[in-house]
Amino acid sequence: MAAASKPVVVVGAGPVGLALALALAQSEIPVTLVETRSDENFLDQVPRAGSNHPSTLEFFDKIGLYDRMRPRGIVAPRFQYWDRQDGNVIAEFDHTYLKNDTKFPFVLQCERIKIVEEALDMAKQHPLISVRMATTFTGFRQSGDDVQVHVTNSDGEAETISGSYLASAEGARSLARKDMNVEFEGFTYPERTLNIEVAYDFTKHGFTERNYISDPVEYSNLFHWKGPPDRWRVHFPTDPNEDEEELTRSDALQARLKNFLPIDGDYEICGWNLYAVHQRVAKTFRVGRVILLGDAAHVNSPIGGMGLNSGVHDAFNLADKLARILQGAADESELDRYDRQRRQIAVKHTQAQTMRNKRLLEERDPAIRKRNHEELRRTADDPALARKFLLRTSLFDSLREAEQIQ
Ligand SMILES: Cc1cc2nc3c(=O)[nH]c(=O)nc-3n(C[C@H](O)[C@H](O)[C@H](O)COP(=O)(O)OP(=O)(O)OC[C@H]3O[C@@H](n4cnc5c(N)ncnc54)[C@H](O)[C@@H]3O)c2cc1C
Repeated sequence: MAAASKPVVVVGAGPVGLALALALAQSEIPVTLVETRSDENFLDQVPRAGSNHPSTLEFFDKIGLYDRMRPRGIVAPRFQYWDRQDGNVIAEFDHTYLKNDTKFPFVLQCERIKIVEEALDMAKQHPLISVRMATTFTGFRQSGDDVQVHVTNSDGEAETISGSYLASAEGARSLARKDMNVEFEGFTYPERTLNIEVAYDFTKHGFTERNYISDPVEYSNLFHWKGPPDRWRVHFPTDPNEDEEELTRSDALQARLKNFLPIDGDYEICGWNLYAVHQRVAKTFRVGRVILLGDAAHVNSPIGGMGLNSGVHDAFNLADKLARILQGAADESELDRYDRQRRQIAVKHTQAQTMRNKRLLEERDPAIRKRNHEELRRTADDPALARKFLLRTSLFDSLREAEQIQ
């Protein structure tokens, strides 16, 4: 079989791999999608947030996924910055300022697990996508013409799938990245983030659906998710020396929440998790016919909700290039352009912005805090500045910048 008629092998049915598979299939490119989880345990995944920015909603809309996500999510046009020291709102931003820029002038709060459930269902129904569940990618060999993808299939047997290209959307621990000998440059923050999920209506206290809370002692983020029952996620940084068992004991979780916002009685805690936060970008996103995208290519702090979003942007950028190459409308140098475009965005936008977000929330110097808060207020109060700010935070600027990179 000629490389052009072989499927693109996509490893990982996370939001990024699924977006790539659906976008390629929409361009008539056959795909084999390999996922290590089985149908039985696919939905048993650690909860991860999913603040879907307007630019990402436009992409999801192109593949018909937005209409499935919308009823399962919460439309959140506004977000707020709070000062935990005095308990006041510093500034509120409203995506309505983007109403002439996008069909979606809001963020859709729809968690990763709901997105992958809907997208996997769509992939299974698509005649050009062969979904291989319970199949684990183990390695690859490539030649000038194709790539041999080694897997352990659902019967536990070693199997080789022949593909035109291999796209690794395996997440942060990408085996393909390691096999390619590509360095994952960056660092890991010493403190872990504690995420507590509670069924409690925070709007009673003036919070909106997405809140960033600045505090030199314990900054946090507070986000609303659709139930039933509706849940809110509160994130706190933790002391690197604190023992995991101690800090996640039920009374310790209650104490942390009540210290954040005292209420009568106990909070109804639905779950918690503790995770390390990394800032890393792969040294290159492409080696021959093997390409990295999503968390396999870059990981960052979740403050600002940019990991999933920028990964989905990788997927659509890559789908367009692979489709044109396989249809004979472009040559392989397009893949180097994918690397130049998306790697620069990962470093200059996603990483830089998430690091700025964290610094803003945890700032200790009172004079700098005051200056930062005044700047936020001034930006939010001026419609032109607010629109400019929102074009950056909702990743439209990064898409425009990527287009300029040849
Ligand atoms: C607590 C938390 C909160 C977050 N909140 C947000 C947010 O609000 N907004 C945002 O944009 N981002 C957020 N992120 C980041 C976001 O979850 C990730 O950026 C996103 O899930 C990356 O998608 P992905 O498809 O690249 O990888 P993943 O979602 O990690 O998916 C990888 C897939 O590959 C499969 N796989 C792995 N290895 C193999 C193998 N060898 N063979 C076959 N299959 C394999 C896995 O089973 C999985 O299905 C958050 C992350 C965390 C940890």
